[in-house]
Amino acid sequence: MKFWFVTGSQFLYGEETLRQVEEDSKKIVAALKLPFPVEYKLTVKKTEEITKIVKEANYDDECAGVITFCHTFSPSKMWINGLAMLQKPWLHFHTQFNDNIPNEAIDMDYMNLHQSAHGDREHGFIGARLRMPRAVVAGHWADPEVQGKIADWMRAAVGSLFSKNLKIVRFGDNMREVAVTEGDKVEAQIKLGWSVNTFAVGDLVKLMDAVTDDEIDALMKEYAELYDFDKADEETIRYQSREEIAIEKILVREGAKAFSNTFEDLYGMKQLPGLATQHLMHKGYGFGAEGDWKTAGMTAIVKAMYPDGNTSFMEDYNYDYKQQVILGSHMLEVCPSIAAERPRIEVHPLGIGGKEAPARIVFEGKAGSAKVLSLIDIGGRLRLIAQDVECVKPFQTMPNLPVARTMWKPAPSFLEGLECWIIAGGAHHTVLSYDITDETVRDFARIMGIELVVIDKNTTKYQLERDMMLGDIIYGR
Ligand code: MN
Repeated sequence: MKFWFVTGSQFLYGEETLRQVEEDSKKIVAALKLPFPVEYKLTVKKTEEITKIVKEANYDDECAGVITFCHTFSPSKMWINGLAMLQKPWLHFHTQFNDNIPNEAIDMDYMNLHQSAHGDREHGFIGARLRMPRAVVAGHWADPEVQGKIADWMRAAVGSLFSKNLKIVRFGDNMREVAVTEGDKVEAQIKLGWSVNTFAVGDLVKLMDAVTDDEIDALMKEYAELYDFDKADEETIRYQSREEIAIEKILVREGAKAFSNTFEDLYGMKQLPGLATQHLMHKGYGFGAEGDWKTAGMTAIVKAMYPDGNTSFMEDYNYDYKQQVILGSHMLEVCPSIAAERPRIEVHPLGIGGKEAPARIVFEGKAGSAKVLSLIDIGGRLRLIAQDVECVKPFQTMPNLPVARTMWKPAPSFLEGLECWIIAGGAHHTVLSYDITDETVRDFARIMGIELVVIDKNTTKYQLERDMMLGDIIYGR
């Protein structure tokens, strides 16, 4: 994936100025330290050039987005035809080559050359006039903080392209009678590009039966490198590895990057996939339990934005009003990428599902600032809810709860944070990410054209109620 850098100008100032504009643009691009490469493409001077480069950007699968900047004035009517057909994420970088106004050097020529304060306003107008979703970042290009904002947008752009190609495999349906894990899959494909389809558990079991000992041995080695476990549990763990290998074969065969399953539909399987699912998440696959394909998809997207990051499927379970924390966990399926220390595989009985005692990875989640994300179908539209949380080291050991666990305090404060989440309709399933930033969440929702509800330190529940009403007017109900 790479990003294209296109500089806006025009013929008015002569060849020498255009040469300088190009040279400066290349210097800017070379100095950007970003998570994905940026390629300087062209200084555009006329309608035909802009239309052509937009078509090329749309067509190039490796182009994740387009960054524009107007070094000089670049009359915006010549941008209309091109921008109107742009299908890639767009960032308008409002920068200026020099970071100051020189006292002696400034004359009319200098002013013509270094006039992004002027040219970028024309460029901004046409973005607003076309009602185009775009990120706007202002500041000097050498400033690391400014570059950080571009990096945040890049993550969102990469996530959006990933989303548009995302295939999600469902083993079994949603958990019976549960509402929030339901949703309009056609709408999800129209808005997010997700292809969500079901695959028979019986076929998965057939593939599991065909997994060889050699395949299992190889995966067991991988487990041993990452996790501690007792020799006595090996047989149970080998069964999880059999499940993991078979699930991944289907994911690879289908080109899928996320999956869901449900404990209500495990016919022919001896254990609920615990370790299997956890290790698949660790490898970058998205997952949602109880048929929750929406959380599976969002988990995969955040993992694609931050390939070496700390992101997991998560579920809210219990409160401690004194300590003002939420206990987050799941029956089994929490990703070890959020572990505070080296995790352990353990085998314990599971009260739900009526299967054999499954192997699972047990650990404490790490402390730190994070976000929980929930994608819900609110009827006629998708709503993404993002809440700031502060993860803390669990204040007790909970020796009889042998699952991965973490604790956090929600923003703006414990109780108001809970009230806000409930008012917004946030699910009990979430994506917990220690990586995703406010900018990236906002950029992603804007690129995808979905409703975003942010709950952070500035949120109040009454303002949030108002936002819900406004959302119904903006998006329809
Ligand atoms: Mn659940």
